[in-house]
Amino acid sequence: MACVDFREMRIPAETIQFVDLEAQLSQIGSEVMKEIQDSVYSADYILGEKVEKFEKEFAGFVGAKFCTGVASGTDALFLSLKSLGVGEGATVILPVNTFIATALAVSQTGAVPIFVDVDERTFNISTEQLDDLIREDTKAIIPVHLYGQAAQMERILDISEKYDLKVVEDACQAHGAIYHPWGKKAGSMGDCGCFSFYPSKNLGCLGDGGAVTTSDERLFMKLKMLRNYGQEKKHHHLIKGFNSRLDTLQAAILKVKLRHIDEWNSKRAENAFFYNSLLKHVEEVVTPQFQPDLEFCHVFHLYVIRTKRRDDLLEFLNKKGIKCGIHYPVPLHLQDAFKELGYEKGDFPVAEKLSGEILSLPMYPELGRREIKCVVDSIKEFCKKD
Ligand SMILES: *Cc1c(COP(=O)(O)O)cnc(C)c1O
Repeated sequence: MACVDFREMRIPAETIQFVDLEAQLSQIGSEVMKEIQDSVYSADYILGEKVEKFEKEFAGFVGAKFCTGVASGTDALFLSLKSLGVGEGATVILPVNTFIATALAVSQTGAVPIFVDVDERTFNISTEQLDDLIREDTKAIIPVHLYGQAAQMERILDISEKYDLKVVEDACQAHGAIYHPWGKKAGSMGDCGCFSFYPSKNLGCLGDGGAVTTSDERLFMKLKMLRNYGQEKKHHHLIKGFNSRLDTLQAAILKVKLRHIDEWNSKRAENAFFYNSLLKHVEEVVTPQFQPDLEFCHVFHLYVIRTKRRDDLLEFLNKKGIKCGIHYPVPLHLQDAFKELGYEKGDFPVAEKLSGEILSLPMYPELGRREIKCVVDSIKEFCKKD
């Protein structure tokens, strides 16, 4: 219990946070405050130079030609689908174990989500039965780079080419993740890459924010119109658009944080390897799998283990002040919001099984080795008592 008493005073000594945003601010707080002050006094609050600068830098970081800042990750997905002409009468394929926003964005366009089971080893979309699910009305597929690990893009792009489908990457958990076979970053391989800057993401702002990356200039122009009332220039509206812009203030903050993302991602990966090494001989626990040479491709937005006695372990850790999460406890096909799709329990056996076994352990760049040891010691203590 007292194994984390070395922590600074701002966090009660007996807890290990799941994500610690204050720890990040103690590193870059003054840089961020300077940007905020500058933005406030510039009196330029919507779009403008700061947004453009961030967009250019973020496109460069991802390895795409263009980037459009939008209001959230959900809107990034929604506007991407819109820009690709996905709407009523279409179906869109996506994995059943993801954050619900991936599917909500599809519904929001009027299209119907088609769920696919996931790969037990990587948690990502299974590409085995994809061919069988593609119908006449299927317009797009959304691979989600879940937990920070790139989905099997080669196979997905092959299938999309074969059936003439659009590919919208949900990279909301994968800023900087690399698809190893090609050395390309998440968000640079499909027609569009979608990012969220929700505060706890690997790159997060101080509120909501998102972005779409693409290397297709026509899509880029369309996305810029769609996020800004459909206007090409002031008061000239070529299409029916939306109000979904990345706040100028948030763009300014993100530009500061972008300078640190590689370092933060490496620290996340190092923390993950440390967890893996300490948990190696704990029989009851399955650790996330990645090959040694692929170590730094996964950006570990989440560090997710599997165990049969998940609920009991979660309770045990919570009682010790170790904050954990489950991502996600209910697969999308069993959510009431998607009842109308007619899926039933048993339709996606892998995702259903995983949803009862997965546990996300504390993970953020500033997490210390002693804290990780403390988490693992507690897990070992739990495993000993049957
Ligand atoms: C966070 C997230 C989203 C949604 O992003 P918001 O910015 O919260 O709208 C979408 N998909 C995945 C996989 C996410 O993790």
